[in-house]
Amino acid sequence: MEIGSRPEELQPEEESQPEESQPKESEIDESENEEIGECKYCLKVDDHHTELCSYIDDVPKNAIVGESCVVTCLVCGCFFRDSRCANCGITLGRALLKDCFICGKRGEHMEFECPELEPNSDFTFDPYSRSFMVDICP
Ligand SMILES: [Zn+2]
Ligand SMILES: [Zn+2]
Ligand SMILES: [Zn+2]
Repeated sequence: MEIGSRPEELQPEEESQPEESQPKESEIDESENEEIGECKYCLKVDDHHTELCSYIDDVPKNAIVGESCVVTCLVCGCFFRDSRCANCGITLGRALLKDCFICGKRGEHMEFECPELEPNSDFTFDPYSRSFMVDICP
């Protein structure tokens, strides 16, 4: 005789949800090391400060530099084009942060790329009016 053969009570599933969905961002230690960030010259992250980059004195051959800087030739000072000097063709260069004295912005463009440089300014040389002047001269 079996009495009390009641079905086992369904035990409620333990609500053991590990806190996986929300990582605690507050645990990230920000105070320990100073944030270095990305080097504007060589684009390395948290390696060195931008102003301590070795690219300032010497850019390795075929190195990729950041968009906010330009590479100039160690010999003639011309800008690099395609990883070499546009003028003399050597690959010895140093990186410079783009610096515009027209609008004062740094790391964006050089003077000749400045959006404030108006193409139709007073400096525009008009060869036609000149030749016209020459024409009416005796
Ligand atoms: Zn660097
Ligand atoms: Zn050169
Ligand atoms: Zn500018």
